[in-house]
Amino acid sequence: MTSTPSGGASATTALSPLSLEDVTLTYPDGDRRLTALDGVSLAVAPGELVAVVGPSGSGKSSLLAVAATLLRPDAGRVVVAGRDVSGMSAGERTALRRDRVGVVFQQANLLPSLTAEEQLLAVEHLRGGRVRPARARAAELLESVGLDEAKRRRRPHRLSGGERQRVNIARALFGGPSVLLVDEPTSALDHERGAAVVELLAEVTRRHGTATVLVTHDRGLLGRADRVLTMDDGRLR
Ligand code: ADP
Ligand code: MG
Repeated sequence: MTSTPSGGASATTALSPLSLEDVTLTYPDGDRRLTALDGVSLAVAPGELVAVVGPSGSGKSSLLAVAATLLRPDAGRVVVAGRDVSGMSAGERTALRRDRVGVVFQQANLLPSLTAEEQLLAVEHLRGGRVRPARARAAELLESVGLDEAKRRRRPHRLSGGERQRVNIARALFGGPSVLLVDEPTSALDHERGAAVVELLAEVTRRHGTATVLVTHDRGLLGRADRVLTMDDGRLR
């Protein structure tokens, strides 16, 4: 892992895959601003699965958007893959996100015309990588999330909801991210399939050593998390 360019950053910063320090995020709301994140601090270690629960509108997705560098906070510090993103240009943030952050959202957002394997290879293509060597790695990753060879050749409409979410997770892991951000991955699944997806997330977090944040409203799925935090009105407890 490369270190931060300036000597100013502390060793702990260089090592932390994900940390938010006193982050505040507001959205325009008519003539005023709505505070979605209110002084949120969070540090996630490699191989750690942190679950975030909380009512709808409490700021969970906003937290993930800031951690994914998709939204820039009004105040506070965000460190992703050991790098402080505050001073980065939009281009630098995009590159960091592409190379170091995996995201899994509620809807799998798979491309309808591509097979499961091609969903992963498309990522490699977008990265400017070579597709041939990536093929074996894609097959291996899909196998590891439970898709056999026949399933790997199927397009999304011929996979179940749970299988699509597995492809989604494999795709998020494909670039070797140090941070994995997962937003309500089980809301379209029944309890049993949802539990299997959370089980898988716990497993890949250990195996790939990602700092994983899982947002869920299903308290029954929290047994596999290392830590459970509650989001309430923009504050994390
Ligand atoms: P959760 O994921 O916990 O449901 P969100 O992070 O989506 O919460 O939303 C937190 C608050 O910010 C809510 O009050 C929501 O209405 C508001 N909000 C979310 N996204 C936007 C946006 N793009 N513009 C304005 N307000 C937003
Ligand atoms: Mg949400």
